Amino acid sequence: MPDTAIPRRPKPSVDRTPAAVGTARHVVIVGAGFGGLACAQALAGSEVRVTVVDRRNHHLFQPLLYQVATAALSPADIASPIRSILSRANNIDVVMGEVRAIDHAGRRVLLADGGHVPFDTLVLATGSAYNYFGHDEWARHAPGLKSIRDARRLRARLLRSFEEAESCALPGRRSALLTTVIVGGGPTGVEMAGAVAELARFTLRRDFRRIDAHEARIILVEAGPRLLASFSPETSDYAAASLRGLGVEVRLGAKVTDVSDGAVTIDGASVEAATLIWAAGIRALAPASLGFEVDRAGRIEVADDLSVPGRAGVFALGDAASFSQDDHPLPALAQVARQQGTHLGRALLAGTTRPFRYVSRGDTAVIGRHAAVFDAGRWHLRGRVAWLLWALVHIYLLVGFDKRLQVGLKWLWRYTTFERGARLIDEEEPATQSGPGHSSRDGEHPLRRLATVREGVDGD
Ligand SMILES: Cc1cc2nc3c(=O)[nH]c(=O)nc-3n(C[C@H](O)[C@H](O)[C@H](O)COP(=O)(O)OP(=O)(O)OC[C@H]3O[C@@H](n4cnc5c(N)ncnc54)[C@H](O)[C@@H]3O)c2cc1C
Repeated sequence: MPDTAIPRRPKPSVDRTPAAVGTARHVVIVGAGFGGLACAQALAGSEVRVTVVDRRNHHLFQPLLYQVATAALSPADIASPIRSILSRANNIDVVMGEVRAIDHAGRRVLLADGGHVPFDTLVLATGSAYNYFGHDEWARHAPGLKSIRDARRLRARLLRSFEEAESCALPGRRSALLTTVIVGGGPTGVEMAGAVAELARFTLRRDFRRIDAHEARIILVEAGPRLLASFSPETSDYAAASLRGLGVEVRLGAKVTDVSDGAVTIDGASVEAATLIWAAGIRALAPASLGFEVDRAGRIEVADDLSVPGRAGVFALGDAASFSQDDHPLPALAQVARQQGTHLGRALLAGTTRPFRYVSRGDTAVIGRHAAVFDAGRWHLRGRVAWLLWALVHIYLLVGFDKRLQVGLKWLWRYTTFERGARLIDEEEPATQSGPGHSSRDGEHPLRRLATVREGVDGD
């Protein structure tokens, strides 16, 4: 075969903006999450030329990720292609690419593939990642839920642990395989704990012959004195009682001091657990190379109109922004990001910025089939009514009628049957996320270890 390889030359940076549509202003929005998308939608159909840049091709409804991880929903139920969401807006282009840096002098964002996108106005809505508070090495063993991939991996981990426990004759290992530890008692941790408990106690009970559902141990660890710290104390108590009713061990005021391969140290005592889930605290995702002043959580400091001080025409919003209202930082919530996105989009359309003010529409979290909480000002709803409100709010917020219908029907089905249709192990266990049963601690291949266990069962 003749050598047809073309000699590599350094690639010139390519302008990745699709062909200009003839208006002077060009707004570039980085991130098509809740905030970025809301901003783009507010500008849709206008004279302003907009380019949305995202490293993913889809908008993800993160609040329902835990339902994918616990097999209640499928990934496609909670994600929509960004292009299709914005397809009717002729003034908006979409670029799939990861922003690595900003050339402030040249007014362009630089992409990981070497391309660039010039801007007149820049909106940063890059969201957040989990915060391991100085222990980033824990992320390998106790992953958080941020992407569809995370959710599918977690689902595979949970289901695989049950599969292995079914054929495991060694009590200690079996118990570790059936143990899930969730770190962080905010809404994500609470929802995850409730969903794993229901999965273990009700759904899998029917499928497995040798596992007693009560063997499944779910531990929720919270360093603070109560769960759901941003809700009322009564709501926190209700959440803890509901979880305990589902068999979850709620440990309040407990500190995680070490996380390793398949084990976590809680208040000095080591607990072996096949599944460790991190849901404690976040940090902004805006890369340090973007060159902004950031707070301790890595969020870009913004003024009251969401502009970045000292950077003309640059704005930040959502989880990526540090915004204080009445001397309190706004929480990292989808509704904050959406309101900020809509506010900024309208302001850019009007050609003049004005102060943003967040109006809470209430906080909600679901604990189980009959238990949810909904705090809105003086209103504190709990139980079935709150569950119904939670379901309606989430269905309404999903993007697209098809998704709303699918998810609504699935919830109705699950509500009446406890069935979780998406119980698929479709992810290989990544080498870095092994637990008991997949452990590489002692250098033993996971399948070999499983074979040894099977021999034990067969020999019984
Ligand atoms: C598991 C979980 C449960 C949650 N539950 C709730 C809830 O019940 N209620 C609630 O209100 N909030 C909830 N939240 C929080 C809520 O999802 C966030 O506050 C919200 O998503 C923030 O919106 P955003 O637009 O700032 O960022 P995101 O929605 O995270 O979007 C950021 C976007 O930026 C893109 N991006 C990031 N970096 C780059 C880059 N360098 N280049 C290009 N693109 C980039 C990402 O791909 C992503 O599409 C939950 C979050 C999680 C993780």
